[in-house]
Amino acid sequence: MAEHVVIIGSGPAGWSAAIYAARANLRPLLFEGTPKPEMIPLGQLAFTTEVENYAGFPAGNIRAFVESAVDPARHYNLPPAPAGHVKDGQPHYAVQGVELMELMKQQALNFGTRVVGDDIVQVDFDSRPLRVKPADGDWVETHSVIVATGARANYLGLPSEETFKNRGVSACAVCDGALPRFRNKPLIVVGAGDSAVEEATYLSKYASRVFMVHRRDQMRASRIMQDRALSNEKIEMVWNHVVSEVLGSDDAGMTGVRITSTLDGSARDLSAVGMFLAIGHTPNTGFLNGKLEMNEKGYIRWTQPFRTWTTVEGVFAAGDVADDYYRQAITSSGTGCMAALDAERYLADKGI
Ligand code: NAP
Repeated sequence: MAEHVVIIGSGPAGWSAAIYAARANLRPLLFEGTPKPEMIPLGQLAFTTEVENYAGFPAGNIRAFVESAVDPARHYNLPPAPAGHVKDGQPHYAVQGVELMELMKQQALNFGTRVVGDDIVQVDFDSRPLRVKPADGDWVETHSVIVATGARANYLGLPSEETFKNRGVSACAVCDGALPRFRNKPLIVVGAGDSAVEEATYLSKYASRVFMVHRRDQMRASRIMQDRALSNEKIEMVWNHVVSEVLGSDDAGMTGVRITSTLDGSARDLSAVGMFLAIGHTPNTGFLNGKLEMNEKGYIRWTQPFRTWTTVEGVFAAGDVADDYYRQAITSSGTGCMAALDAERYLADKGI
């Protein structure tokens, strides 16, 4: 028997779609992916620490709640509570990325979502029912599909960058910028597009100084954003340079970067405790093999405003795989909910 809905992806869009689809009695089957260097089950949030801007999760004794809600069999996956975040003798911190995702997963499981720890590696959207192929299993037939595979932040690809990920190196200022390690210290932003300016502006509220390291002598950002960066006293442009190495130690984490001139190859070091990459994202769409129409940046194209419809009937897209603009956990959750409602209405229209 064909499935009602298959959900591909296990970030906030995937779990939110699953919660809504399960509560609509669609018995969703969700493929959560397998760990890979660039992406792991539970999505980009699994790479981050505290999530201070997901509505409904103010700082508090989050761990007690998480442990009471999440199946003890998965407690091994929970990161330790951040050190030193204590109030009145109790842990006191904002929900961490993995905790938030485990809570969403539990909520989806509670309503009957079936979860498969495998990747979808191929799709057949020409047939009816639709078909998706897991890496380690036979083709699965389904009347609808929700693609929620997200996007991955682009990194420079330096081995030293990998060493200091989450100990200085981040690709999300909004997620990590307010953490204590970055307060009143110099920080680096790499890139000079709108995101880079946004990140630098955001970080300038906390940092002592923000160096924007850019490989050219002109910013890609829109005029208004350029002005915002250039008029901010705390932001200093470092033109015509690339980061060639992240510096630091096991104990201290990141302590600086080596930058190399794109004009004459000379190198020098900059002291900084954080480096925020803002050099674009890549949506995780390889397995679709061009079966859905993408926009000019390679993200899945929604065919109607305020609908998660794609160019294939019965296939819906949610979260960052279709959003190169907002890219927040909460907006992904929102579009995941929309995709489940769209799928439910589609199936009802078809009498399925
Ligand atoms: P983007 O516009 O593609 O800018 C990427 C930046 O990273 C560019 O400055 C680029 O340099 C640099 N870069 C790329 N690869 C690099 C590498 N390997 N090493 C060093 N530098 C590298 O990306 P974005 O800023 O994320 O923006 C994406 C879209 O979202 C844009 O359409 C943007 O307008 C929109 N957005 C809008 C807002 C807003 O309006 N508030 C905020 C955020 C994003 P080059 O310039 O040399 O190529």
